[in-house]
Amino acid sequence: MNAPVLVINCGSSSIKYALIDPAPDAPRLAGLAERLGSADARLKGINSAGGSFSHALPNADHTQVLNAILNSLEGRIPGAIGHRIVHGGEKFTQAALIDSDVISAIKATAALAPLHNPANLAGISATQKIFPALPQVAVFDTAFHQTLPVKAYRYALPENLYAEHGIRRYGFHGTSHAFVSQRAAELSPRGAGGWLTAHLGNGCSTAAVWNNRSLDTSMGLTPLEGLVMGTRSGDVDPGLHAHLHRQLGWSLDKIDDVLNKQSGLLGLSGLTNDMREVEEAAEQGHARAMLALDVFCYRIAKSLAALSCALPTLDGVIFTGGIGENSPLVRSRVISLLPHFGFALDEASNDVMIRGKEGKLDRANHQGPEAWVIPTDEEGRIAMETRQCLEAQA
Ligand code: AMP
Repeated sequence: MNAPVLVINCGSSSIKYALIDPAPDAPRLAGLAERLGSADARLKGINSAGGSFSHALPNADHTQVLNAILNSLEGRIPGAIGHRIVHGGEKFTQAALIDSDVISAIKATAALAPLHNPANLAGISATQKIFPALPQVAVFDTAFHQTLPVKAYRYALPENLYAEHGIRRYGFHGTSHAFVSQRAAELSPRGAGGWLTAHLGNGCSTAAVWNNRSLDTSMGLTPLEGLVMGTRSGDVDPGLHAHLHRQLGWSLDKIDDVLNKQSGLLGLSGLTNDMREVEEAAEQGHARAMLALDVFCYRIAKSLAALSCALPTLDGVIFTGGIGENSPLVRSRVISLLPHFGFALDEASNDVMIRGKEGKLDRANHQGPEAWVIPTDEEGRIAMETRQCLEAQA
């Protein structure tokens, strides 16, 4: 298929899109609509000349915003739509051509992602109305981690919670971990060996990837497990919920809200969920920002060390996501917490690796495991998986 793929990432009040041509150097049209359904709804994006635009779309719903997106594509007609779907449960191990069975299966998984899957389905339904003739493909955040061995995905809970209710570890950010580990396999002489990947953005997760297969990851049943994130706590004692309920009388909804929206960098620093601001405040000696940075980096290092148990050999670590791609400080701190792994970070190379640069951070002639920065491209990966899915059907 030579036509571009329109990648849609539909949230409950936002839609992210990108029009991706098969030619790697073709300009990408991309943008984001936010606050759907409110008076402030707005679509912002970039055009093929690299310029930006911003249109007010007061009270627009998903269908109206998708029509506005269509009008911003400069007359380029997509040949297919690729939808990012957060949760595919155990049913989806790869991308799937959307039909009524696939829609039913995504609905059936909604209990595991009550905030995300219904919004993703709303996006599918609106795009089917606007583009009835185009093939639409579902690309799942969880699918890449369906290769986890049972010892990595089962919690130590009674069997029926898994067998009857699907309570297990699924993992997320699959398109990002897949993209950067495959890219490292192409770029490094070590190829597709054992890679630890650290996706560090507003959401953060790590993965252990061997021969392009995910063997373990830090997120679990939900995207709350694992690392410290912008506003999410990551791992806490599972006894915390009962303790907060009994001692403070907090409801489950309140506990969920605190752990998902008021914790992480925001909770620790008391200032912000934005790592740039945390770093600036820490630099000026703000004690809680310094603590937030310490806990954030320590937990990444601890997670990478734990995940290394999944790999027969360790060929390197890959940093990606807004923080992983742009924060020499976080990368340097994490590596310095793993001295026994034999990384050899060259601080000068580390310092210049920002704003979309891709490359290795090692000192010259270093023989041990490598450290890389690889900018993620989740939209590009979704477009690629959409094409592969359609080719497999042809
Ligand atoms: P993402 O969710 O991948 O867009 O990443 C968002 C996170 O990346 C936020 O915490 C930002 O503060 C962080 N980020 C972006 N640029 C920088 C930077 N130059 N230094 C540190 N953190 C950054």
